[in-house]
Amino acid sequence: MKRKLGTQLSAGFVLIVFISIVLISIVANILINKQFEQYAQKQQEQFSEDLAESLRLQYDSASNGWNVDYIHGVGMYALNDGYIIKLYDKSGASVWDAENHDMEQCHQIMNSIRTRMEKIRPKLKGEFVTNRYNLEQDGSSVGYVNISHYGPYYFDENDFRFLDSLNRILLVIGLISVLGAALAGIVFAKRISNPIAKTTQITKEIAEGNYEIRFESQIKTKELHELMQAVNHMAETLKNQERLRRRLTTDVAHELRTPLANVSSHLEAIIEGVWEPTNERLQGCYDEIERMTQLVSDLERLSQSEAEYFTLEKEPVKLRSLASTATEGFAQELAARHLTCVVQGEECIIQADARRIRQIMDNLLSNAIKYSYEGGEICVEVYASNGNGIFQISDNGIGVLEEELPLIFERFYRTDKSRSRKTGGSGIGLAIVKSLVQAHGGNVTAKSESGKGSSFVVSLPID
Ligand code: ADP
Repeated sequence: MKRKLGTQLSAGFVLIVFISIVLISIVANILINKQFEQYAQKQQEQFSEDLAESLRLQYDSASNGWNVDYIHGVGMYALNDGYIIKLYDKSGASVWDAENHDMEQCHQIMNSIRTRMEKIRPKLKGEFVTNRYNLEQDGSSVGYVNISHYGPYYFDENDFRFLDSLNRILLVIGLISVLGAALAGIVFAKRISNPIAKTTQITKEIAEGNYEIRFESQIKTKELHELMQAVNHMAETLKNQERLRRRLTTDVAHELRTPLANVSSHLEAIIEGVWEPTNERLQGCYDEIERMTQLVSDLERLSQSEAEYFTLEKEPVKLRSLASTATEGFAQELAARHLTCVVQGEECIIQADARRIRQIMDNLLSNAIKYSYEGGEICVEVYASNGNGIFQISDNGIGVLEEELPLIFERFYRTDKSRSRKTGGSGIGLAIVKSLVQAHGGNVTAKSESGKGSSFVVSLPID
């Protein structure tokens, strides 16, 4: 079973955030606890020293005695905090001893500290440690005090509560972050997965033949935006191809219908004896068949020039020499219509498929001849410009109307003028020119003025 992209992205996002937060929480927890333990240990050492100091001050050197009442107060206060004080005078005799004073309370407090610490720090293996502080006044010893507390450190009720609430806060922050990340992850994942899901749906529709459909959405992610544009471009291209395919079929049918109808009606009339099979009539039929043969071979050439698989056999091609050879090939036609044709310009060598360049020239020259007036002039000019080899074939013939210029490169398009001249063209020559030029990575443009002549410029990359 395939999982949805959105779900996978959100789950991945949440997992990453979850792992990061858990790690951060654990590390923060360890560090905070460590710091707090060190702090508690220092505090406890400091407190013991402060206790010893305050006890030292309770010795009165004048009376050679101790302020036992005050010492009792300090001792009891310290005992409640977990410090067991035993004070001795310089002869070693006990002045005040917490255990002697209230043994039961001492043990109760020691036990409660031990139990609490064993519960919250089972690995600590702490014990009650005793530190001895010598008490001196004016350089001479007045006694010493033993202060015991649970070591190396311990937490009282308040410390413990503080640590506990800190850990709780960390946990709550962690949970809120994971929740927030999950929400953000879902929104973020949706923003990626929605356009992809839509692309799938649109491509499915395109595959079913709906070429009108377009992806219209404001996508901020660069790659997704490009994907959307690519899908739209694909739909547009398919739509154009479909349109061309349909047109090609109708155009071919249309182009074949007239000559076929003519031939069949003529032959029918001859067979039924309505018409004499004169040479003239048979020649008419033959001409029509020739036209159809020409059309079929034009179509073949067009499909070859548009075939995806056709490969260019590139070699150095001398454009000017090739133009001269091509022109010579039309010598008869030129002479028959009293046309002059000159080739001008410098030699220009390009990397191209010579056979196909010759085909381009032949098509353009044959058009120039077809659409010239008797005695007209044709000029072929070759030059190089901006890394391109260029040849321009101009005539001073019938020209093309401005509005028809963009259409003449389409298959089967023939201007009204050319139709009325009955030049016999099928409107495929320029479509072949265009696709061959494009296959070479070049471009072809036409300029024309109706009644004055036309000029076709073919520009091909030098290498
Ligand atoms: P065709 O076989 O009809 O010549 P093309 O594709 O070669 O087909 O040309 C398409 C149409 O463009 C022609 O029918 C003609 O109307 C116009 N055309 C092409 N070349 C010329 C030209 N040199 N002068 C005037 N019209 C031209």
